[in-house]
Amino acid sequence: MSAQIIDGKAFAAALRARIATHVPAFRAATGRAPGLAVVLVGEDAASQVYVRNKGKATREAGMESFEHRPPADVPQDDLLALIAELNADPAVDGILVQLPLPAHLDEEAVIAAIDPAKDVDGFNAVNVGRLAVGMEGMVPCTPLGCLALLKDRLGSLSGLNAVVIGRSNIVGKPMAQLLLKESATVTVAHSRTRDLEELVRRADIVVAAVGRADMVKGDWLKPGATVIDVGINRVEGEGGKARLTGDVDFASASAVAGAITPVPGGVGPMTIAMLLRNTLVAAHVREGLAPPEDL
Ligand code: NAD
Repeated sequence: MSAQIIDGKAFAAALRARIATHVPAFRAATGRAPGLAVVLVGEDAASQVYVRNKGKATREAGMESFEHRPPADVPQDDLLALIAELNADPAVDGILVQLPLPAHLDEEAVIAAIDPAKDVDGFNAVNVGRLAVGMEGMVPCTPLGCLALLKDRLGSLSGLNAVVIGRSNIVGKPMAQLLLKESATVTVAHSRTRDLEELVRRADIVVAAVGRADMVKGDWLKPGATVIDVGINRVEGEGGKARLTGDVDFASASAVAGAITPVPGGVGPMTIAMLLRNTLVAAHVREGLAPPEDL
């Protein structure tokens, strides 16, 4: 193996610690802690774990965590009423609705109902538009975390060839926007893309956000490429035990790449750290304070 392992877990821990150092000054200036409200509809097991981890990290950073757990059959109007309540609550700086929502709910309408100033997930169309035109706004946490790891590793991304595999609103599209903003030359690949291997072979940066275990192989990569693996796939491991793997075949890719994120321990921890960052920034903006600059 030749690739440097990009330790997202350590990077995220350092970022979370930096975030925590800014909370006392915010508290002194405003008389309150920044607050994040998480809404989890229903009992989905994976979502429960995510929400628990988000709440724990929020409290560890010295922020206030509010959890709302409407039942799986909550009517759309009741959920929208809860969002309106959180929009109006001065103690709430960030609102996160854990996705996916049960099928009877209109995800788009729910996201649209969140006050863009409190939309710490950056999924509201106002924030999507701001990112597209290069204005300040809330940027989705996972691509923001990927970008931080890339800049830490590479410094300037200007002129580099980047291939983003996946075009979801949550990861692929905002990732492409962020890379464009850094002046990378960006190709977005998706399920209909032809000759994916050929595209990947020309890339200095590969961001894989597909949801297909070990899809990107080492012999697709340009030697020395920086590989960010967003995928989280549950597969059967040794002895029938479940284990997590990414979208990149780590064994073969780490022999060719210059640097690579592991799964787990790469992008995943960055997502939560960036959620705290967005909440802290939203809190400062709402209070008319300048957001900290070291985030
Ligand atoms: P999604 O299902 O919304 O999008 C997947 C994308 O992959 C689509 O745009 C599709 O066109 C593309 N795709 C599918 N098959 C392809 C193929 N054969 N070749 C090229 N592209 C193909 O998924 P998502 O929400 O963007 O998530 C992607 C992965 O990232 C999942 O494994 C998810 O669990 C993971 N994820 C991780 C984090 C994290 O914090 N680490 C956050 C969000 C998502």
